[in-house]
Amino acid sequence: MPENNLLDSALVRLDDAAKHINVDADVIEKLKFPRETTKVRLMIRMDDGSRKSFLAWRCRYDDTRGPTKGGIRFHPDASAEEVEMLAFWMTFKCAVMNLPYGGGKGAVQVDPRTLSKAELERLSRSYMQAFSRIIGPDRDIPAPDVYTNSMIMGWMADEYAQIVGQASPAVITGKPIALGGSLGRGDATARGGYYLVRHLSKDLGLDGRMRIAVQGFGNAGQYIASLLADDGHKIVAVSDSGGAVHSANGLDLEALLAAKRDGLSVTATAGKNGHEVIKADDLVSVDCDVLVPAALENMIHTGNAASVKARLVLELANGPVTPEADEILAKRGVVVLPDILANAGGVTVSYFEWVQNKQGYYWELEEIHTKLRTIMEREGRAIWELSLSRRISMRTAAYVHALSRLAEAIEAHGTQNYFIS
Ligand code: GLU
Repeated sequence: MPENNLLDSALVRLDDAAKHINVDADVIEKLKFPRETTKVRLMIRMDDGSRKSFLAWRCRYDDTRGPTKGGIRFHPDASAEEVEMLAFWMTFKCAVMNLPYGGGKGAVQVDPRTLSKAELERLSRSYMQAFSRIIGPDRDIPAPDVYTNSMIMGWMADEYAQIVGQASPAVITGKPIALGGSLGRGDATARGGYYLVRHLSKDLGLDGRMRIAVQGFGNAGQYIASLLADDGHKIVAVSDSGGAVHSANGLDLEALLAAKRDGLSVTATAGKNGHEVIKADDLVSVDCDVLVPAALENMIHTGNAASVKARLVLELANGPVTPEADEILAKRGVVVLPDILANAGGVTVSYFEWVQNKQGYYWELEEIHTKLRTIMEREGRAIWELSLSRRISMRTAAYVHALSRLAEAIEAHGTQNYFIS
């Protein structure tokens, strides 16, 4: 087994899925190890003339189904172990959606909020310089993740173009529209989750007006709240790193979005329209129908899973529910729409962006929405049916669904050199 506790905990889901599908033990073994993880130390010049170094990684976990795909995270707690775990999830996410990609991920150990814009640009460019031999439009294709955005992707695309001496937009996705980005990438993660919930709501017994609690009010959290509120559902609680606000009658979404635009916490809306501040930790136990974790890993754990009142958990974050919490929720009849399906809208529109870059032909927003909805509904329905027929959780069903595609590809490649990179 790999000596990586974080990855080990993610591999529990693979072992679980393997019990429900007949695949060669060697296939499972192959999927337990990342193909390659590269670590570098990026050294950049700070605005005051000093130099500072940052650890950075890029993991290409598995490329059996195509070039590796996955975001780059800028976070002070980033680590090699976390990058490998996230890259493992990307491998399964791309297979769940039947995208022609393997899984990868990257990170820089940095708090980007402590850097000036110029420092952030130098750091982003140095990441691309350091990893330009690993990254490539048919090899490994990064995208945004936690605390990275289209501006950073634009700088990285520009740096890559300078290195290879020609425009090469398909090397990275989530770019600004002006540099070959796709319409609809900005809200794609939330929109995919929204299409999924809308499609399965009757099956889930969630007819009518739903009460929603959103943990994490960044890109995905803000968009899912807006999309659901536009359909008449009630946002009863939201949180961010500064705290949480709650109102059983429904929060004033415009006020929340305005606070974020001004760079404030959602708690800045306290007192407005009955907004009451609660502890961020209490958000998961708010009385609601749908809980949307849209922040970081391991937010729903053994310590709070029993207090979840929602009937449905929509995982817009990667890995927000620990395996132990999964069991507690399942016993209590809470359905979890798992990350590798629920938040796959982001990478799916990344795929559309990559296809458009390769074709040099750009699609209308409506076409993107229709194609995203079709894939979310198709794969979501298949996983729902699998979970019913096998009496397994949606998470296990999603892994089984992905694993059958991965196994088919691994076997089609030939079975004689599984472990040679
Ligand atoms: N970072 C996103 C994810 O975790 C998107 C990855 C991508 O678009 O390649 O799925």
